[in-house]
Amino acid sequence: MLLFTIHYPLFTAMSCLFCKIVAGEIPVNRLYEDEQTLAFPDINPQAPTHILVIPKNHLASHAHATQDDTAVLGQLLHTAGEVARAQNLTNGYRLVLNTGPDGGQTVDHLHIHILGGRQMHWPPG
Ligand code: AMP
Ligand code: ZN
Repeated sequence: MLLFTIHYPLFTAMSCLFCKIVAGEIPVNRLYEDEQTLAFPDINPQAPTHILVIPKNHLASHAHATQDDTAVLGQLLHTAGEVARAQNLTNGYRLVLNTGPDGGQTVDHLHIHILGGRQMHWPPG
């Protein structure tokens, strides 16, 4: 149990799909990256532009973020804005943070969806 506790973060990083993308083990089109964040196209796009922005360090979800994560949370939103500008989403876009089972999160590494290029609807499904 002690060993499991000590090695848990490493285990998480090794098994996490988006950590593998950060590490370059799964190739993606790295549209933007800086020290803390990475943006790449969603593999199953739900809009003409559908890009994911993730923290490079593993963070399971928005619900797992603490006071220590405020800098990276701010950087993620900033990166999303830079990417939206670079993609010429001048007519607007939607940012989505699916969180936990009720939020429809399927990959347990925090990510912001940038959706654009079509009219979005409200309420979302
Ligand atoms: P969510 O359902 O909010 O957790 O979003 C996870 C997103 O990750 C989905 O939109 C998937 O299409 C996307 N996704 C899963 N695997 C990959 C991958 N290898 N490369 C890019 N996007 C992926
Ligand atoms: Zn991860």
